[in-house]
Amino acid sequence: MRIGVLAVQGAFAEHETRLRALSVEAVQVRLSQHLQRLDGLIIPGGESTTIGKLARRWGLIDPIRDFARSGRPLWGTCAGLILMAKDVIDGEVDHPLLALMDVTVRRNAFGRQVDSFEAELNAPPLGEEPFHAVFIRAPVIERVGGGVDVLARLEDGTVVAAQQGNMLVTAFHPELTADDRFHRYFLSLCDPSVGETSRRDAVISKQPVRSEGRPSP
Ligand code: GLN
Repeated sequence: MRIGVLAVQGAFAEHETRLRALSVEAVQVRLSQHLQRLDGLIIPGGESTTIGKLARRWGLIDPIRDFARSGRPLWGTCAGLILMAKDVIDGEVDHPLLALMDVTVRRNAFGRQVDSFEAELNAPPLGEEPFHAVFIRAPVIERVGGGVDVLARLEDGTVVAAQQGNMLVTAFHPELTADDRFHRYFLSLCDPSVGETSRRDAVISKQPVRSEGRPSP
C-alpha cells in the first residue's frame, strides 16, 4: 500500500514515521504528479493558512479535490480538517479551501488558555478502549451534515472526529501518541483489496458507527 502525506508544512514527518511503522510505503506529496498511484492521502496538522497558501501556489487544490472525488481515501488531521471542511468559522481563512466534507469547523476553538490539552476520547469504531488524544490549538466540528458519521467525541459531547464515505477528519493529532488505531482505521479504508461497499463501512470493531442527521445511503 502507498499512502501520500501532503508535505508542505506541519506534522507530515510524524505521519510518515507512523505509516512506515505499520509497513506502509509513505510518499511525500508536493506536486500533483505525486498523487498518482496512491491508495490514500493524509493532510497533516500545522497551520491551515500556510498549508492552504502553499498548496494553492503549488497547484495542488484541484488535484486533491479530484483525488477525493475519485473515491480514494483522504484524512485530514487538525489543520487538515480545517482545509477539508465545507464551512469554516474564523477570521483568517476567509473561504473554505478544499470544501470537500459537509461539516462546519471552528478554528482555534479552545482559545488561548487551553490551547493544548490531552483527553480520553470515546471512539466506538476503534473499540471500547478510550483513545488518548493530543489537541494543539485544535478546531472542533460544530455541525455534521447528513451522511457524515461521528467517530469520536470529547466527554462533553463535542465532535472531534468524523467520516463521510472515503473522507476522515480528526481535530487532534493521532501521529503524536503511541496508539496507532486511527492510522489502522484509515488504512482499512485505503486497502485496495477491500471492495467499494465494505470500504465505506469498514470498521475495526464490530460496534456500529453512530451517525447524526440523515443516515448515509
Ligand atoms: N490552529 C491551527 C490552524 O488553525 C491548527 C493547529 C494544528 O493543526 N495543530 O491552522
